[in-house]
Amino acid sequence: MNNHEANNRDRQIEDDPSNQEHQQPGYPPMAASAMDGVAVAALRSVLQHVHQAAERSGRSSDRIRVVAVSKTKPVSLVRQVYDAGHRSFGENYVQEIVEKAPQLPEDIEWHFIGNLQSNKVKPLLTGVPNLAMVETVDDQKVNSDPNMIYYKFLLCVSQIANNLNRMVENIGRKPLRVFVQVNTSGEESKFGVHPSGCLELVKHVSMACPNLEFCGLMTIGMPDYTSTPENFKVVFLLIYISFGSVVLSCSLLVNIFLWFLILLKFLTPSVCWYQTLASCRSEVCEALGIAEEQCELSMGMSGDFELAVELGSTNVRIGSTIFGAREYPKKQLN
Ligand SMILES: *Cc1c(COP(=O)(O)O)cnc(C)c1O
Repeated sequence: MNNHEANNRDRQIEDDPSNQEHQQPGYPPMAASAMDGVAVAALRSVLQHVHQAAERSGRSSDRIRVVAVSKTKPVSLVRQVYDAGHRSFGENYVQEIVEKAPQLPEDIEWHFIGNLQSNKVKPLLTGVPNLAMVETVDDQKVNSDPNMIYYKFLLCVSQIANNLNRMVENIGRKPLRVFVQVNTSGEESKFGVHPSGCLELVKHVSMACPNLEFCGLMTIGMPDYTSTPENFKVVFLLIYISFGSVVLSCSLLVNIFLWFLILLKFLTPSVCWYQTLASCRSEVCEALGIAEEQCELSMGMSGDFELAVELGSTNVRIGSTIFGAREYPKKQLN
């Protein structure tokens, strides 16, 4: 193709009005403008990277949703990103989303991505009529709930799913789309259903909760894996033993083995959690007889969203890369 043709083609792409309507989800990236604020520029860059990661894995990025996680950030900043054409936003404190949503346009698709307690289901659903998705349905049983014993004895699979289901019906809103949250990284996180219980919970949601629409699986994995205090201690101990054994002139093999353990500890990447989620999906799709495209994967945050997309994510939740680092108030919300 010569230069002239290439220019022409670029012009056609710019002129095509259908390109402007297509800003969600993900691609084509929104046209940059000189007036962009920092958050909008950062969003464009994220969309671009999502697109490239999707291409690397041979997928199309137009099925990949970027949820801009605006927790702790002011409404005015959310508004800027909205005005640039973005529509999916995520919050993880009920109190915060209930305050923000009414101040922002109704065509925002809000994703609730935080831990949801039973007594917050009603305020969430009534306070955010344009809630598009709850990503955090799990099998957690809340100890303080007076019905705890009742739930235990009936072996109820998910109190939160049942509450959401009932509340959707009570307030007469349209069915609520949900993800089942899976704890892919072991005991360290207390939220999410264990991978072995995932199928049972998905079956419960899709068969016993007619007002919920099962859309896929979500995981947090373990951000900052090596910087958690326990891991830091383990690594420190290994280094200490390793030097000790040099002093005691132990064999080289012992040392190589210890350093291998240290590296393993450091290098365990998000890959593990994300592959676990993908295999949960295979199990679910096979059991329910649905195509994998009908079961989304919500995985990937600021630190690792490109990797997550390469591993099959259809929904990345990005906060600090778009809105900047968060400052938490002294007293936690919610
Ligand atoms: C805050 C949050 C995010 C976004 O995290 P960043 O690292 O800032 O992108 C994603 N998912 C969940 C569940 C969160 O709570």
